[in-house]
Amino acid sequence: MTTANKTHKVTLIPGDGIGPEITEAMKSVIEASGVSIDWEVQQAGEAALEATGELLPESVLESIRRNKVALKGPLTTPIGHGFRSLNVTLRKELDLYTNIRPAQSFHGTGARYDGVDIVLFRENTEDLYAGIEFEKGSEGVRRIAEIVEEMGAGTIREDAGLSLKPISVFGTRRIMKAAMDYAVANGRKKVTIIHKANIMKHTDGLYLKVCREVAAEYAEIAPEIEVDDLIVDFACTRLVTNPERFDVLVCPNLFGDIVSDLCAGLVGGLGLAPGANIGDDCALFEPVHGSAPSYAGQNLSNPTALILSAVMMLRHLGEQCAAERVHKAIAEVIEEGKVITYDLMRMREGTTDGSSGTKEYAAAIVAKLQN
Ligand code: NAP
Repeated sequence: MTTANKTHKVTLIPGDGIGPEITEAMKSVIEASGVSIDWEVQQAGEAALEATGELLPESVLESIRRNKVALKGPLTTPIGHGFRSLNVTLRKELDLYTNIRPAQSFHGTGARYDGVDIVLFRENTEDLYAGIEFEKGSEGVRRIAEIVEEMGAGTIREDAGLSLKPISVFGTRRIMKAAMDYAVANGRKKVTIIHKANIMKHTDGLYLKVCREVAAEYAEIAPEIEVDDLIVDFACTRLVTNPERFDVLVCPNLFGDIVSDLCAGLVGGLGLAPGANIGDDCALFEPVHGSAPSYAGQNLSNPTALILSAVMMLRHLGEQCAAERVHKAIAEVIEEGKVITYDLMRMREGTTDGSSGTKEYAAAIVAKLQN
C-alpha cells in the first residue's frame, strides 16, 4: 500500500563516479515499490563543474529548499586548493544538523557478525568538520598562536596548520534531542553518548555534560530508555568485540564519521551503509560511501546503500509500507545469494567469481517486489 494518489517531488543528485549507475538501479527499485516520485534531477560535483564551471550551482540548493527532500549519490571532491568538500557545504548550507547512519545486519552477507542493529546519530555542523581552518604560515595561525601564548594556554609551532573544534550547547542539545526522540519513536532501549571528554574537557566535556542534561529531561517521559556513555577509543574496542551491546549511538561530528564506517564494516561494508541528513526544513538522503571512481561505469558496484537511503527517504515521506517491502526484497535477494554484487560475493565466498552486476542485482530486487 502507498499513500493514495500522492506524487512526491524529490530533488535527485546522481553524483559522480559510480553515482549515475547506482542511481539508475535505485530508481528502478523505487518505481517497482509503487510509490510515485517526480524526480527533479540536479547536477553537482564533477558533472556540474564541466557544465557550469561550478561544483555546487545555486540551483541545486534552491531545488532542495523548494522540494524539502533530496536523494543524492556520492560526490567527488577534487583534490587541490579552493575545493571545500561539497558534502560538508551542503550539510552546512541547509543546516542538516542530524546525520543518521544505521548499521543493520542482513542474513547471508557473510559479514563477521549477525544480528547487529545500531543506529548512529552524528552531529553534522560543528567539531573539526566545521571547516574553520588556517593554513601553515598564514596570518590566522600567527594571530591565534599569539593569543594562545599570551593567555598562557600553550605554544603553537610556527610551521603548524590549524583546524578549530567548536562544540556548542546549542549544537549538542539538538543532536541529543534528535537521538532521544528517535529512540522514543522507534522503541529503542539504549542511547550511548560517545566522546573523548577525559582529554578535550571544554569541547567533548561540554558535549557530554549537555547530552546528560538532555537525557535527564527525557528520564520522566521515557524512563524505559537507558542512557550511558563511552570514551570513543574504548567504544571502538567494544563495537568489534560486542556489537550487540549497542543500540543508538550519539557522536560529535568527527567521531561519528569514523565510528559509522566501523559500524558499516560490522555488517558487511560500505556497499550496505545508508544515511540521512536531517534539518528542521530539509532532508537529504545519501549512502555513506564515496564515488569509488575506479569502479565507475563498470556495472559492478553495490547499489544497496543508495537503495536503503531511498528506503529511509520513503519512511520520511510517510510511505512506511513501501519502505518495508523494499527492505524485505533486499533482505531476500541477499539471503538467497544467487544474484549479488562482487563485494557481497567476496565477503560470502572469498571470491568475486559468480557475482552479478549492479543492474542484474537491482532487477532481482525488482522481481521480488513484483511477485
Ligand atoms: P569510496 O568511494 O567510498 O570507496 C572506498 C572503497 O569502498 C571502494 O574501493 C570499495 O572497496 C568500497 N565501496 C564503496 N562504495 C561501494 C559500493 N557501492 N559497492 C561496493 N563497494 C563499495 O571512498 P574513497 O575512494 O576514499 O573516495 C572516493 C571519492 O568519494 C573521493 O573524492 C571522496 O572525497 C568522495 N567521497 C564522497 C562521499 C559522499 O559523497 N558522501 C563520501 C565519502 C567519500 P573495494 O575496492 O575493497 O571493493
